[in-house]
Amino acid sequence: MNHLKTNINTDSSGGVKLEGIDLSFGNTHVLKGIDLQIKPGEFFAFLGPSGCGKTTLLRVIAGFESAQAGRVLIGDQDISHLPPWKRDLGMVFQSYALWPHMTVRKNVAFGLEERRMPRKEINKRVDKALELVSLGDLADRRPSQLSGGQQQRVALARTIVIEPKVLLLDEPLSNLDAKLRVQMRLELRELQRTLSVTTIFVTHDQEEANTTSDRIAVLNDGIVQQVDTPANLYDNPSNLFVANFLGVTNVVPGIVMEENNKLFFRSSDNKIIVPLSKGTQGSSNIVFRPQNLRIRPEEAEPVNGATKLIGKVDHMEFIGSLVRYRVRVGEYFILVDAAHQKGEDTLSVGKSIALYLNNDQVIQLSH
Ligand code: ATP
Repeated sequence: MNHLKTNINTDSSGGVKLEGIDLSFGNTHVLKGIDLQIKPGEFFAFLGPSGCGKTTLLRVIAGFESAQAGRVLIGDQDISHLPPWKRDLGMVFQSYALWPHMTVRKNVAFGLEERRMPRKEINKRVDKALELVSLGDLADRRPSQLSGGQQQRVALARTIVIEPKVLLLDEPLSNLDAKLRVQMRLELRELQRTLSVTTIFVTHDQEEANTTSDRIAVLNDGIVQQVDTPANLYDNPSNLFVANFLGVTNVVPGIVMEENNKLFFRSSDNKIIVPLSKGTQGSSNIVFRPQNLRIRPEEAEPVNGATKLIGKVDHMEFIGSLVRYRVRVGEYFILVDAAHQKGEDTLSVGKSIALYLNNDQVIQLSH
């Protein structure tokens, strides 16, 4: 897609504020008091498992669903009671919803024609939008003559051409194959940067959210679990749901105690004892990632700042860039990633080994 600076006047002053959004479908309580503030020009993702309410929340912002309580604001304007077409928002649907009998150009022009814009202005805007998504050469084709990625670009062009204050994207990449998804998410991000348009992106794909977004709201069961940058969510999850949803993680249950003014964690089976620099005493879990451990021979010397655990390789997955081992330590299975180099042998199942767990990578999460 093109990197040129655009004169499409997308208004970046459109921050979005959600206040106390509450919605039920009959007896199903889908959104439970959602408060969120999305900054002007931000690329913001709603991330969560299927059925957590992401699409419903997006549809509330778009005006296709009405919440029983709460307000939606764009900038300072409360738009809660406006119909969708008066909200100044552009939405790209999972299905693209292109008109099959119209050419690419007609599809993109449609929204402007509906607004009865002068033909000259329509042509200028459509040309610009098609150029931005690199579809100028295919303007006379129909959607059925385009690849999935090209159809996706038409859907985007058709939305940005109306110069919305906010761009709403509902799983826009989910119909594409894995390789195209990776390419399109990059293009999407570049286009968003070029336009500086506030963008809300719904996805259940953690990698997609991480690679595109400035910030992410993780949702579960109609409740916002945490809002932060991708790296902060990964490094400092506020609960076990977020820790597990963002990447592979080890969770060991036990108790946090203080002895001789030193805080430490002891697993329920007493086999894993880890010093903690901060934490709260009581029943709790520790959480750490597979890359926070190193595998060494069983007889290896202790290492400063690391907890030595003795275990047995229980399972091995060769992923390519890394090998993921499942190691049995006491009653628990610990996942460990080892970077793979060409020609290096993998450890066999049943082998006794030592693990060095980096103490400063361990966090405590009680729920
Ligand atoms: P997915 O990733 O599968 O699209 P989601 O997080 O976007 O999931 P929603 O589509 O927002 O989830 O749905 C949230 C819940 O609301 C689900 O339990 C769903 O079955 C229910 N739901 C959605 N729309 C309606 C409706 N019109 N009537 C009744 N229930 C609905």
